[in-house]
Amino acid sequence: MTYVVTENCIKCKYMDCVEVCPVDCFYEGENMLVIHPDECIDCGVCEPECPAEAIKPDTEPGLESWLQLNGKYAASWPNITQKKEPPADAKEFDGTPGKLEMFSPEPGEGD
Ligand code: SF4
Ligand code: SF4
Repeated sequence: MTYVVTENCIKCKYMDCVEVCPVDCFYEGENMLVIHPDECIDCGVCEPECPAEAIKPDTEPGLESWLQLNGKYAASWPNITQKKEPPADAKEFDGTPGKLEMFSPEPGEGD
């Protein structure tokens, strides 16, 4: 089991999650973060910290594609452990449907 970052993180990227993770298993893309499924110890601490409610346990149904996406990009994006300024328009995109179309495969800057 692992926790996964899902669609509502895209273009919100508040980054509250990275500060609480005891094993620093968040990785930064251009417009979302992912969790490394093999590094996550399933502590669940990050889930309630996400203002966008984008972090879910992979035991929830229907998250297979998100689990795959988290694993794929955690392998190439840089590690992030410190919260930065979220995008200026993060609030506008919080809860917007269809954000997968806005997903960027490009890496973020990391720490
Ligand atoms: S707190 Fe939530 S929205 Fe922000 S980066 Fe983490 S998972 Fe994404
Ligand atoms: S569940 Fe725990 S170990 Fe996994 S990403 Fe969240 S804070 Fe990190």
